[in-house]
Amino acid sequence: MFNLILFGPPGSGKGTQSEKLIAKFGLRHLSTGDILRSEIRNGTALGLEAKSLMDQGQLVPDAVVIGMIRSALEHNPEARGFLFDGFPRTNAQADTLDALLAEKKTAINIVLALQVSKSELVKRLLNRGLTSGRTDDVNEAIIGSRIEEYERKTAAVADHYKKVNKVVYIPGEGSVEEIFRKLCDEIEEKLKSKK
Ligand code: ADP
Repeated sequence: MFNLILFGPPGSGKGTQSEKLIAKFGLRHLSTGDILRSEIRNGTALGLEAKSLMDQGQLVPDAVVIGMIRSALEHNPEARGFLFDGFPRTNAQADTLDALLAEKKTAINIVLALQVSKSELVKRLLNRGLTSGRTDDVNEAIIGSRIEEYERKTAAVADHYKKVNKVVYIPGEGSVEEIFRKLCDEIEEKLKSKK
């Protein structure tokens, strides 16, 4: 298996690049944000619990997202590999992910971390808010909270994987194609060294 984490702050382009990467490398896309939004659309209890936190730009509890990922891993036994997008977002989530993958006799192969300046993030998210229908994209205060949550809780996840030399930083500003090329180069390099 080949498992990758696409890492970066909200608005760094994880969703856009994930779509392109799964198409090219045949990975299963697991986005906790997408799963949560689908739970909200379906009006489930889990969705209801998550919605108010998401609308305030706060993280939902670890146990909730970990349960979602555990179930997604169980339901995709045939997958060639997974692309994790928006997960893990805390060190507890990262520890659990490592353990879940170890149970499957696999591991994270690479963490690709997109780097984008704060002013560019805010600009992109406000712009997305004009059309996305996402309630967490519409105002600058909520966007600010999301970036703060990232800095307070999520940035440390990169250190978790740096200790095992798995993190590669990629500049996340430039054209979508240019960034995609750089991500692909790193993945191809990693795949070669696996063989
Ligand atoms: P972003 O564009 O901010 O990266 P996502 O679509 O990944 O957004 O997530 C939207 C919201 O869903 C987050 O602000 C958070 O409330 C919740 N969420 C998504 N993934 C996680 C996670 N792994 N842990 C906790 N909360 C999460």
